[in-house]
Amino acid sequence: MATSPVVPEKRPSEELNRAVIFLGPPDAGKGTQAKQLAAKFMVPHLSTGDMLRENVANGTPLGARAKPIMERGELVPDSLVLRMVRERIERPDCSHGFVFDGFPRTVAQAQYLGELLKQHGFRRPLVIHLRVDTSLILRRITGRRMCKVGDEIYNLYDRPPKVAGRCDNDGGELVQRPDDREEIVAPRLHAYEKQTAPLVAYYTRLGLLHDVDASKSIEEVRQQIDKALLQARAKH
Ligand SMILES: [Zn+2]
Repeated sequence: MATSPVVPEKRPSEELNRAVIFLGPPDAGKGTQAKQLAAKFMVPHLSTGDMLRENVANGTPLGARAKPIMERGELVPDSLVLRMVRERIERPDCSHGFVFDGFPRTVAQAQYLGELLKQHGFRRPLVIHLRVDTSLILRRITGRRMCKVGDEIYNLYDRPPKVAGRCDNDGGELVQRPDDREEIVAPRLHAYEKQTAPLVAYYTRLGLLHDVDASKSIEEVRQQIDKALLQARAKH
């Protein structure tokens, strides 16, 4: 019986070799872009939500401490989150760099991460700031309608159904998800802006922030991110 030879891990021709941090409001395409970039450079896409769930599922000491807090619906304290982040980026799969999605959220977390990256010999991180007009996001989210029969997603402003309230494909009723209502979305966006402003100022001061216009198509946003990466490489 033939045994398959051990194939050395195939790496991309160009390595990322740094941390990339994405800042952007909900629904600005942050997850999509972060995942694409991570896939292109074959590096992990990291979110603290995934890390928490993984630690809980694996029953790690950190997970055991986080679990009751999460079950009460409370915010997991920074001390736990930061230890989790440290353990995660020390794993070998992060040695070629990694992409953060939704972390850091505060200047204190950013400072800790900066120290951590220095300690582990990483270059300065690239910070991608997805900018998009709040009113545009509000339209995207509050205009969204889902078909109750299939998975089709419509938008009252950008992709309206032919008959109001009915799916083009199967005539199913179109409904709005409770979380997409303006009274839920508007405060979330406002909270995001308030929370992120100091972080944007912090990374701007360090010269690490790259603004990307996230109102453009996924492909155009991707190209802007590639350009930012080239600029970062030229600088540090
Ligand atoms: Zn349908």
